[in-house]
Amino acid sequence: MSEKIGFIGLGIMGHGMAHNLLKKGHDLTVWNRTESKVDEFVAAGAKKAQTCKEVAENCDIIMICVSDSPDVKEVVYGEVGVLAGLTEGKLVIDHSTISPHTTLELAKSVNEKGAFWLDAPISGGNEGAANGTLSIMIGGEKEQFNRALPYLEAMGKGITLVGDQGAGQLVKLVNQILVVVTGLAVSEAMVFAQAGGLDLEKTLKAVEGGAAASWMLSARGPQMIERDWRPGFTIDLQQKDLRLVLEAADQLGVPLIATSMVFNMYRTLQQQGLGGEGNHALVKSLENMSKITLGEDHK
Ligand code: NAP
Repeated sequence: MSEKIGFIGLGIMGHGMAHNLLKKGHDLTVWNRTESKVDEFVAAGAKKAQTCKEVAENCDIIMICVSDSPDVKEVVYGEVGVLAGLTEGKLVIDHSTISPHTTLELAKSVNEKGAFWLDAPISGGNEGAANGTLSIMIGGEKEQFNRALPYLEAMGKGITLVGDQGAGQLVKLVNQILVVVTGLAVSEAMVFAQAGGLDLEKTLKAVEGGAAASWMLSARGPQMIERDWRPGFTIDLQQKDLRLVLEAADQLGVPLIATSMVFNMYRTLQQQGLGGEGNHALVKSLENMSKITLGEDHK
């Protein structure tokens, strides 16, 4: 049976995800805090809700993709939030990257209404969201995972049930350690190549198919070379994820040497007012230290 889907949060990621649900012909209701972002979805066949409560009242499955833990809390617990419209049997799927601890709190509140919760954070950048090729890492019950799968398949390719509620968010933090440390490696390699007088495009082409291959290198390396700092993922949100990683690592008593270094490098960029740039602008932190600028001899 086809279920009615609601989508809350039409930002960089939600934009592509909601469009892909529509493209697959799903019955979609949307809500966004900045109302004007809803218009293009209504033009493409979606229904518009006035509040998150209305999304929950009118839909069977409610998907959320907003910025941080307090934002998901606002959307769920607010006076006209999801919880106010939720009834037994409905399913809430949170695609935002938030604290595993907050996730358990939210899941409990939703479960107390007789409804279900999956934490389902995503990876793959704005490109993955637009192309329907996201990785989706899910925490929750197998039965609800199977229920959600046909809809998640409209938005992603690698869709994995990784454990109970909260496990999806913890795996996402694993993902973020890999993303930022790889980002640091790409940044360091590019600055080194620049200092060596190499052609950066040829260098990238020569190494991206070998043992050094990575999504970060192939998707964000060219943007670094072109000094295109438009965000697929902003430094501010990347920094939010690293805060979540370091908080969890502190609770677990695990040293994360490289990740904490990147956290502080991003902090220097935020202090320069660059929090709205893409996370690949990490290279600027190394440029500042080394006084070597990518592409300077191409200008
Ligand atoms: P974004 O472009 O900044 O969009 C954020 C969305 O959240 C917007 O729709 C915004 O509404 C909404 N929002 C924020 N605070 C809110 C609040 N208090 N109440 C209601 N709505 C609120 O961010 P994004 O890049 O799409 O990221 C969304 C989530 O996906 C984040 O958790 C991020 O960490 C995660 N993520 C992002 C990427 C990526 O590459 N971009 C990849 C994987 C995961 P307005 O339109 O009104 O501002």
